[in-house]
Amino acid sequence: MSLLPIRTYGDPVLRSRAKEIESIDAKLVALVEDMIETMYEAPGVGLAAPQVGVDKRIFVYDIGEGPKTLINPEIKESSGEWVYEEGCLSVPGLWWPITRPKDVLIVGMDLEGNEVELEGTELLGRVFQHELDHLEGVLLVERLDEDQKKKAMKFIRSEVVIGGGSMRRPPKEQE
Ligand SMILES: [Zn+2]
Repeated sequence: MSLLPIRTYGDPVLRSRAKEIESIDAKLVALVEDMIETMYEAPGVGLAAPQVGVDKRIFVYDIGEGPKTLINPEIKESSGEWVYEEGCLSVPGLWWPITRPKDVLIVGMDLEGNEVELEGTELLGRVFQHELDHLEGVLLVERLDEDQKKKAMKFIRSEVVIGGGSMRRPPKEQE
């Protein structure tokens, strides 16, 4: 297993729609192992393949119940509304309160190729929606209102100028 570099804001791989996975092979299993290690090291509660430069529809997550993998995920239903302070490993150091549906029903495949259907509420529902956004090429910044977005861009630009990466992150969930 090895740690993978996490792509950050400005990298084009984060802005394109990731491709469907056609088959589960040893290469994909190895990618998942590396993604899980990278997610724990970050630390984060979720990590999507485009965040490590891989243009595929797969993400890993762990909200405290062990690492899980979802392949070709699709949200089938969503309901309710929940405000949660969301962060992203690809836009490190920033968290914003974002309103999204509270409950989601997601379908996909696990690493053994079994079809799975999962219900996620609150944090888990949030992780599903956040990671699916990554597979669609959507970053957290695009979920902000205009005012928040201006502040975020200013912060991101200042990080680039001083070289980024040097800041300490508070111990909060990032995805
Ligand atoms: Zn993210």
